[in-house]
Amino acid sequence: MLILAGVTVSFGPVVAVDDVSLRIAAGSRHGLIGPNGAGKSTLLAAIAGTVPARGGCLLAGRELAGLPPHRRARLGVGRTHQQAATCATLTALDNVLLGLYRQAGPLRAALRPALRRALTARATEALATVGLVDRATVTAGALSYGERRCVELAAALATDPRLLLLDEPAAGLAPAEVDRLARLLADLPAATTVLIVEHDLDLVFGLTDTVTVLDNARHLVTGTPAEVRSSPVVRDAFAGV
Ligand code: ADP
Ligand code: MG
Repeated sequence: MLILAGVTVSFGPVVAVDDVSLRIAAGSRHGLIGPNGAGKSTLLAAIAGTVPARGGCLLAGRELAGLPPHRRARLGVGRTHQQAATCATLTALDNVLLGLYRQAGPLRAALRPALRRALTARATEALATVGLVDRATVTAGALSYGERRCVELAAALATDPRLLLLDEPAAGLAPAEVDRLARLLADLPAATTVLIVEHDLDLVFGLTDTVTVLDNARHLVTGTPAEVRSSPVVRDAFAGV
């Protein structure tokens, strides 16, 4: 589903992602872990197209390099951010609809009531998936932090992405919310390929079939959760974290 070939991202003198190559099979649940500042969020941004990157990035055989984020989203790249990126003054439902309108083309959606109804139904369904359908008309600013993160997840899911990029979805959630999130992620459609960055290693190891470790901008190792857990290289990378 995704092939990264020598992806490199620099911010001035800082090399945040250094020559990272990776293959992610279709339908895979792929974890991305590593110490703070390793380049995990930047790698997701490079795939989503929100930071300039060098190297190749193929989605189902199609080169994404040079395409702006909205084109990549239309090709099936969905994402959530490390900080919940909801609009505080819009309702939960409208936050989810925003992404769907963008995907459908805002003008088309504005001009076609039948399309708008279909998109609203899809947004409502996505809110139901994350357990927030009864909060649909509440503005995001009045929701709890955990609820806002779920709205962002619903917005990503509603677009039915082929590749879903999740940046620390469990960060800042209460233990009960993490459990619910884990169940939700385990129940995602089998066809959806997931790349998840997460500090909660129990969550990552429980959910994924393959795990990549980034350390200091570089690809350290990729393997099954069991292989990565027992790897001495990984233990060294996480020492002192
Ligand atoms: P992680 O998500 O693994 O904690 P990041 O990808 O956020 O790491 O950051 C990797 C490195 O790139 C860090 O040194 C960080 O300071 C730097 N960095 C990230 N984003 C920017 C940016 N927009 N401008 C400058 N430096 C950045
Ligand atoms: Mg990060």
